[in-house]
Amino acid sequence: MGIREAREVLKLYFGYDKFRPGQEEIVTSVLEKRDTVVLMPTGGGKSICYQVPGLVMPGISVVVSPLIALMKDQVEALLSNGVQAAYLNSSQSSAEQQRVEQQCYDGKLKMLYVSPEKLLSAGFFSFLKSLKINLFAIDEAHCISAWGHDFRPEYLQLKNLKLQFPDVPVIALTATADRLTQRDILTQLYLQDPKVFISSFDRPNIYLQVKPGQKRMEAILDFLEERPFQPGIIYCLSRKATETMARKLQEKGYNADYYHAGLSARDREKVQEKFLQDNVMIMCATIAFGMGIDKSNVRWVIHYNLPKNLESYYQEIGRGGRDGAPAEALLFHSLGDVMTLRDFITQGGENSKEQALSLAKLDRMQQYAESTSCRRKTLMHYFGEEYQKDCGNCDICDNPPTSFNGTELAQKILSAVARTKETVASAQVVDILRGSRNQMTLNKGYDKLKTFGAGRDVPAQEWQRYIHQLINKGLLDIAYDEHGALKLNANSKEVLFDGKQVELVKFQPIDPKEEKEKRTKGKSRSAVENALFEHLRQLRKELAAERNIPPYVVFTDN
Ligand code: ADP
Ligand code: MG
Repeated sequence: MGIREAREVLKLYFGYDKFRPGQEEIVTSVLEKRDTVVLMPTGGGKSICYQVPGLVMPGISVVVSPLIALMKDQVEALLSNGVQAAYLNSSQSSAEQQRVEQQCYDGKLKMLYVSPEKLLSAGFFSFLKSLKINLFAIDEAHCISAWGHDFRPEYLQLKNLKLQFPDVPVIALTATADRLTQRDILTQLYLQDPKVFISSFDRPNIYLQVKPGQKRMEAILDFLEERPFQPGIIYCLSRKATETMARKLQEKGYNADYYHAGLSARDREKVQEKFLQDNVMIMCATIAFGMGIDKSNVRWVIHYNLPKNLESYYQEIGRGGRDGAPAEALLFHSLGDVMTLRDFITQGGENSKEQALSLAKLDRMQQYAESTSCRRKTLMHYFGEEYQKDCGNCDICDNPPTSFNGTELAQKILSAVARTKETVASAQVVDILRGSRNQMTLNKGYDKLKTFGAGRDVPAQEWQRYIHQLINKGLLDIAYDEHGALKLNANSKEVLFDGKQVELVKFQPIDPKEEKEKRTKGKSRSAVENALFEHLRQLRKELAAERNIPPYVVFTDN
């Protein structure tokens, strides 16, 4: 019973010629009956890591999985590969459950999927004791961590597995890799001297891009126009927003639909199925969409709003390009979103420790969005990976910013903040610098300030970026509990009064046309493709027009 048999099982049941990097070592560890922890990105191939050793060893494997829909898919996939598998959860009738239990007693099953609720239900452990269990696999193991975004209190009870079955190896698997979650998995499951496998979380085929949040709908329409055949996901912050987005896109003739937790289970399953089969091309969804969905050809993922942390962000964009072909992740970023998320966190009634952590995580998310160096490097460092070179597949690498002596600009910003007595937010500071005569500046008499209009020559978006940079460099503070009012600190005073020099990064605002050329380098369209795109544009127009036909128009044959 060793890796040779494992390779045979891999070929025989799954049809794969070889293990992916990492899988073989993990399978070996399980076959040695070691407790094993697997941190591998979504789509990396975690299932094989417990399914193969489970099939090689005599007895039955018990797999704990948090989602009923997932469980069903996995079991069906196994059955179609000729593996005797079944599941037990609360959605089944008691007759069904009894039938499965009988199959277990009769030794007819190799793999049993159970929900955590079922596992903890009365009498279930004594049922398990009567079986010959070769392995416990705990999928989506990050659900055990209260720090994580998918915390399931029932997962905490899984420590009883190790207490009750000290001789059965446990393998815990997740795509969430931050250190706190890792530590929770190790300690909460009472794992014995576990072997931990961390595969690279890099997904080099995903192009990473961040755009300013202003005019994001226009930017999305431009984006879609260029990608008419590509399935993709647009993540929105609220349920309502997913519906509005889907409707707007439908009105433009796009094949879009929406998904959120407010839909009935049936509707959710239906729309998900359509997306899986390419019958819906664009899914507008809340983060409720996607966990464990195995659709390999998602070509792009757009975040209409800033996600609340990098773990969620990375997991969500990881649903793109699972087939390894090029995919894109486009994130929209605005300080307004940051404020909204802060409000969510601070009003959530969480305890202060959790709040502090959530806020810290949000800060890191924001830093990523405002990063001035290779995005992939920033991400990989966040997940604790070494990453030396620039990736060459993100917007920063495509358009590297150049730095310049920004002391004068910084002084203008800081003195505007000082003159408004540190009471205004960044958007208003920009108004003052640009000399905008609007209600706010006039009512408050800001047009009389010395700094009013001191920076007309710099576009508003650029000022915003410089303010972000000063905040990121610790030269300026932002009081989120005072509607984002900007505040001076000791460092700002050095810049203002002691001649401290400030290096800023210049952003060449990219002309959309130029950007398109850059992204399609050497891939100009053929005449046939051009005709096809034009035809599609026409088709969308017609579809859109059809949708707008008022219901009282009656068509007749003559
Ligand atoms: P995860 O649970 O890590 O998100 P899955 O276990 O669902 O990933 O696997 C993702 C995809 O990779 C599946 O389609 C699976 O069949 C495929 N896969 C896994 N291991 C291999 C392998 N050794 N060779 C080829 N394909 C594999
Ligand atoms: Mg999985």
